[in-house]
Amino acid sequence: MATCSVCGVRKAVVYQKHTGLRLCKECFMENVQMRVKAEIERWRMIEPGETILLGLSGGKDSWVLLDTLTQIHDPGRIIAVTIIEGIPGYNRREYAERVRMKAREYGVDHIMTSIKEYTGYTLAEIVERAFKNGLRVSPCTFCGISRRRILNHYARMYGADKTATAHNLDDESQAAFINLLRGDWEGLLRQHPQSQPASPLIVPRVKPIRKIYEWETATYAYLGGFPLQETECAYINLMPTLRARVRRALYRLEEERPGTLLRFMETLDTLLEEEASKLKPQPLPRCEKCGEPTSHGRRLCKLCELLEKAGIQRPQYAEAYRRGGEVLKLYRLRVSEGGGRDE
Ligand SMILES: [Zn+2]
Ligand SMILES: [Zn+2]
Repeated sequence: MATCSVCGVRKAVVYQKHTGLRLCKECFMENVQMRVKAEIERWRMIEPGETILLGLSGGKDSWVLLDTLTQIHDPGRIIAVTIIEGIPGYNRREYAERVRMKAREYGVDHIMTSIKEYTGYTLAEIVERAFKNGLRVSPCTFCGISRRRILNHYARMYGADKTATAHNLDDESQAAFINLLRGDWEGLLRQHPQSQPASPLIVPRVKPIRKIYEWETATYAYLGGFPLQETECAYINLMPTLRARVRRALYRLEEERPGTLLRFMETLDTLLEEEASKLKPQPLPRCEKCGEPTSHGRRLCKLCELLEKAGIQRPQYAEAYRRGGEVLKLYRLRVSEGGGRDE
């Protein structure tokens, strides 16, 4: 390959199709870092002094998030959370230990937990029960909802101002496209960086790497020498059908016209900005079982409802709530005192 289009000195190792640039390792990584920084500043995602709870699965995207965010924000104000899903042969405790060691090199606090610790069941146990009960829900759905809940749970517990997740451009454009196809207007607005959570019990979420392509996060993680798992999630082929199709279609469009996904998200960002900023948190009905917010006209939250359909009547978190609801009480106390993390 030729020399780097930016520094003109080092050998180019990456061809960035959507810009036409050939970049060396250093200039490519800097390019990604600058774009993440620009996206954070554009929407004022993170303010100095805020405590950020960061989802650190140990996957390529989460390393890019940790590496770029710690260059912008005080690592002493970042808490990384690794959630062990409980999928046979995947993301086991030994791997999570390596993730923890690497996270500590950055000077961030680290929490290790699992879906089992929160619900009382591993993801594999939930999926097995769901299949037995004839519930046709993809494991990705259970996994995604549980992980989001667990992050929010710890964010409240530690008085974090934001949760940061490592959704990349491919994830975000697939989700936006699905929302468009379904006519899910609220879902589309909730994806926008200007929107606030539906309920005051949900800690605001930010997605700093939402404009970075998946191939770029993979390249960054590889060039940066981050520990990556060799095994793939065993449930990858059980991804929801619509998601799999949209993913394939968008890849084809991107392949034919590099930059398509980026332009798609930029257009939505501009188009939806005003509407999204009108969405304000409001008191929502609470789940009968666990006390978490749910939407109007519903008895249970999404997680309790799915678990109930899978034959799990008394998840661990709901039992903990029944015994006292400590976490929610504690959170309300902190919010009324003006928030912040007390240590
Ligand atoms: Zn260069
Ligand atoms: Zn519930």
